[in-house]
Amino acid sequence: MVRGMKSPPRMKTDLLITGIGQLVTAEGAEARRGRRMRELRVVRDAALAVAAGRVQWVGRAGQWTPAYGSPVMEVDLGGAAVVPGLIDPHTHAVWAGDRLADFEARSAAAGYEEILRAGGGIRTTVRSTSAASPEELARLATPRIERLLSSGAVTIEVKSGYGGSTAAELAALEAIERLQAEQRAQHGARLLATLLVHLPPSARSAASFAPNQSHSQARQQFLARVCGELIPAAARRSLASAVDVFVEKEAWSVEEAERIFATARSFGLAVKLHSDQFHSLGGVALAARSGALSVDHLEAAGEEEIRVLGQSSTVATILPGVSLHLGLPPAPGRRLIDAGAAVAVGTDLNPGSSPLFSAAAALGLAVRMNGLTLAEALAAGTVNAACALGFNDRGRIEPGCLADFLVLHSRDWRDLLYVMGANPVAEVWIGGRRRKRRPEKREEATERGKEKPQQTETR
Ligand SMILES: [Zn+2]
Repeated sequence: MVRGMKSPPRMKTDLLITGIGQLVTAEGAEARRGRRMRELRVVRDAALAVAAGRVQWVGRAGQWTPAYGSPVMEVDLGGAAVVPGLIDPHTHAVWAGDRLADFEARSAAAGYEEILRAGGGIRTTVRSTSAASPEELARLATPRIERLLSSGAVTIEVKSGYGGSTAAELAALEAIERLQAEQRAQHGARLLATLLVHLPPSARSAASFAPNQSHSQARQQFLARVCGELIPAAARRSLASAVDVFVEKEAWSVEEAERIFATARSFGLAVKLHSDQFHSLGGVALAARSGALSVDHLEAAGEEEIRVLGQSSTVATILPGVSLHLGLPPAPGRRLIDAGAAVAVGTDLNPGSSPLFSAAAALGLAVRMNGLTLAEALAAGTVNAACALGFNDRGRIEPGCLADFLVLHSRDWRDLLYVMGANPVAEVWIGGRRRKRRPEKREEATERGKEKPQQTETR
């Protein structure tokens, strides 16, 4: 499933951007694989023409000719570097509550899976999220999306998955639909919704909602609802374009994921996987033989998984924010690329394992933690991330693509990946329009009116 590409617009130029010290982009609509991830086009003293929201022409400024009359508007960037708008192919930006207590517990040596087994961790997010309305979830997610946008992410995938019931999952997808409409109206980020089948009922929650059933019966009943109610309702209402499944010991098995995939495909939805985060259970092979758009995480992927992805059209999406936040070994990004895989990078923005609000920082982490070169990281966050979402019309600055690009504070594009703790992105342009800067909204507390105790200042 590839969508979106159009011919370059043959009409009057709306906008001509000049004074581009360096314009850097991957070329070609296909995902970059293996060594080709390093091949970037670098144009010095570049210009960029835009018509009808798409790139009309790009090249050396001296070579531009006004084939369709003088441009309506000209903007001189004074030598700044320009790169394609980033794509964040993996976020869980819709949640309520927070996970600050987990963060503190982990800092005192409790493990992620240990917290999960004790009924904390992700299940506390499920409790808070399932109690919130779509309006409230959208309101809570707005400042998160806007932070990602400021960091350069112009297309952002957002997953449901903290609902835990058909109604609550549909409410999360409705929240994403609201966010999509709000962002579109404000010329903000382009959002794409994914239905994530995240966790089966825990033994504790199964016992409370169905005391006469065994845990495995409750699990099968939940799966039957996912396939019989949730996926059909989401597809009928066009609330998601893909279905994602978390394959893990504490989550779903490969066989269960296969059943969910079959249902998703019968409704025309694309499929993808969270796999090999803690254990390698066969999810990579499933993703490859199912034609999944991407298989994400891969921290526990071994030689066989790397070999499979080196020969598969499924994009390997790595998420360095999780490795950093949880202190776990990073995914083998270097070895995946050396084996010929197409690697993408996402923030995995979520409250429990990756509170990373910057797509640019995710790429910088992929260089430092996963062994990508700078050129590979740019390809991973642009053209390959677009392919991981099934798009071939973005993540590149080429005629016919969406005119989504970033102006950096620097004259050198490498600053996008080098800078830590500050935003390297000066301007975000989407569809040939500069995003208006707005004062950053404060992230609102879920429990309004409940004041946290004042911290005592210590030295
Ligand atoms: Zn995730």
